[in-house]
Amino acid sequence: MRKGRELLPLLPLRGVLVFPNMVLHLDVGRDRSVKALEEAMVGDNRILLVAQKDARVDEPEEEDLFTVGTVAVIKQMIKLPGGMIRVLVEGLSRAAITRYLQGDPFFKVEAELIKEDTGKSAEVEALRRNVLYQFEHYIKTSRKIPPETLATVSSIEEPGRLADVIASHLNLKIEQKQELLEAASAKERLEKLSEILNREMEIAELERRINLRVRKQMEKTQKEYYLREQLKAIQKELGEKDERTAEADEYREKIEKAALPPEVEEKALEEVDRLEKMPPAAAEGIVIRTYLDWLLELPWSKTTEDRLDLDRAAEILDEDHYGLEKVKERIIEYLAVRQLAEKLKGPILCLIGPPGVGKTSLARSIARALGRNFVRISLGGVRDEAEIRGHRRTYVGALPGRIIQGMRQAKSKNPVFLMDEIDKMSTDFRGDPSSALLEVLDPEQNHAFSDHYIELPYDLSQVMFITTANAPYNIPQPLLDRMETIYLPGYTEEDKVEIAKRHLIPKQIKEHGLTVDNLSISEGAVRAIIRSYTREAGVRNLERCLAAICRKVAREVVKNPSTKVSISQKGLQKYLGVPRFRYGTAEKKDEIGVATGLAWTEAGGDLLSIEVTLMKGKGKIILTGKLGEVMQESAQAAVSFVRSRAEELGLDEDFYEKTDIHIHVPEGAIPKDGPSAGIAIATALVSALTKIPVRRDVTLTGEITLRGHVLPVGGIKEKMLAAHRAGIRYMLMPVENRKDLSDIPANVRRRVEVKLVEHMDEVLEFALREKPRKKKQSLQAPPEAAEKPLSPVCADETELQRQDDPALRH
Ligand code: ADP
Repeated sequence: MRKGRELLPLLPLRGVLVFPNMVLHLDVGRDRSVKALEEAMVGDNRILLVAQKDARVDEPEEEDLFTVGTVAVIKQMIKLPGGMIRVLVEGLSRAAITRYLQGDPFFKVEAELIKEDTGKSAEVEALRRNVLYQFEHYIKTSRKIPPETLATVSSIEEPGRLADVIASHLNLKIEQKQELLEAASAKERLEKLSEILNREMEIAELERRINLRVRKQMEKTQKEYYLREQLKAIQKELGEKDERTAEADEYREKIEKAALPPEVEEKALEEVDRLEKMPPAAAEGIVIRTYLDWLLELPWSKTTEDRLDLDRAAEILDEDHYGLEKVKERIIEYLAVRQLAEKLKGPILCLIGPPGVGKTSLARSIARALGRNFVRISLGGVRDEAEIRGHRRTYVGALPGRIIQGMRQAKSKNPVFLMDEIDKMSTDFRGDPSSALLEVLDPEQNHAFSDHYIELPYDLSQVMFITTANAPYNIPQPLLDRMETIYLPGYTEEDKVEIAKRHLIPKQIKEHGLTVDNLSISEGAVRAIIRSYTREAGVRNLERCLAAICRKVAREVVKNPSTKVSISQKGLQKYLGVPRFRYGTAEKKDEIGVATGLAWTEAGGDLLSIEVTLMKGKGKIILTGKLGEVMQESAQAAVSFVRSRAEELGLDEDFYEKTDIHIHVPEGAIPKDGPSAGIAIATALVSALTKIPVRRDVTLTGEITLRGHVLPVGGIKEKMLAAHRAGIRYMLMPVENRKDLSDIPANVRRRVEVKLVEHMDEVLEFALREKPRKKKQSLQAPPEAAEKPLSPVCADETELQRQDDPALRH
């Protein structure tokens, strides 16, 4: 045996490794191990401790053991119950197995002791300090090793030993420890250890951070939980419920009571659950509450019972409205059809007429007649689809659209729903509101109307929709197609007087808290109001004037309750001020170059004064008065016609080469359009050129062709009422408009005499004071067309078809 080599019994270790200078207890039980111990005890108490590569192997063989181990001395040995032996060993030095001498009954090996290298270079010292510093850090961060250890460790001067001691304190894997054991030089050992410590520290730091995070989280939830539990306990003690639960319960109760359709109820309950889980002050809570309130307040299933008595309905309509016989008849027919064919879902009613003719109040009467609730929304100025359909709930301050808002107001599922001013909607980039309305009004689709806010389909099929408009031509065509239109053209003076006497005056007296004893207004006064203070197709301003009188009288009555005021035509100024309109705007005397035309506006008919002036110039035509394109073309046509007839009219053939013609239609700020002023322009022009005055009691309407033919126009009834209002005696209109005359009330027909014309020559013959004469041959026969007598209009004209064609505007 060579020097430095020893024969030693071997004790295989499982899961532990003993470094030199380390004192440690081992429990030994395996047969061969016990025998090895005994052998050692017999000798010099020294034994070689070698770690097993795999701790699970029970009966290790040579190849299962590492080749480097520690020679140790057995300090103590105690027999434990069950054949186990506890030994106290102390590591002495490293040793490498050079040879196995026997495997049974215990391992015996020849081993070479490895000498510790105790050299202390500066590098090793630096490594030593570094490792010590790392170890100190590691102790602080990991907290797995008691801090006192540091004091013991730092007193060790010898670098190799220091490495061993530190390694024994670390919780390392066997392979790592073995590596350290096998590292013979102190330098190598310290380097390895430094590497290991570095890694361990990183892991420890990570562990620390994770711990911290977990703890914080736990602390927070625990604190909240604790406080909340405490709060609950206090509330319970005080007999109070948690606010949110209380609110949620309240909603649940309301939902149950509301008897909502199943899908609505489900949605509502879902929202309540969400609300309950939300912290009380969350902004979204407010959104949910508003939404729930909407769901609860919408009439999902409540309906009112219809009164199906048509006679009674007719009575109610009569009670509320004077006149309007045809309109009422149409309404009753409409109601009858709806009743008979409930399932057919009759079309939607559209009342068209100027302001103040009673469209809204008719709709209200229909609701009263049917015993249904009434709601009204105005579509004037609506330009965004979202106004009809609502905004999605994700938007701040979102609300349902006007339809759903109307339904909430209606409080029943089958109200009469009035949509005012359907012709005043406009379209812009935010979507077309009329397409949304189409869905609302289409009986095929409206049983499941979708509002962006409500999110659930809402059934509108039982709603009776009525729409109103001032004029048909601005209603989007697809909407117009779905509706049954009823025209209310406007009232005559007689109608207005009756409406005032029967409805407006009693209504205003009542509304102002007066009685018939306080105030009486004579018929003359009413007529004077109509003529001098209002100029309108309806009765809105008339009603306003009456209200103004009532207000003033009310003031007097307050001062002296026994006041009795009778208002006659003369006393009117005291209450209404100076008359605003001159009754009859017909020209005072016959004028040259001025003719009176008629316009059909949204406010009914109106007089249109047309002026022509001639100036020296070069044949320019100037058109002013905000004339639309059609009206301008119509003026051009009139000029061309006159030029083509220069000779017959006694004009210089080249008159237009030396003259500028200025055609003006006053009230220049109001836009005017349409072809119907054609014959009036031509008449004014001829008058200006021939210097023959136009008859002041004549008004004209009709389109002119280049050959002088007069073509039919629209709005005859409105225009005639306007002529009547203005006190004009004669109205010239196209023969083809004869059919419209059946609609005109007899008293208007008596006052305004209609002359039907076919050609411009007839117009000139009647409207001009004298007949224009051909130049030089002044006694020549009049042009051929003028020979025809004017077509007279018989009072008993047979009833002809109504004039409803919106294409024939003025
Ligand atoms: P619109 O909706 O056509 O603009 P309203 O229905 O608001 O007109 O009518 C204005 C006022 O005139 C209302 O007070 C209405 O009762 C009254 N009114 C209109 N026409 C009649 C009528 N034929 N009989 C009784 N009152 C009428």
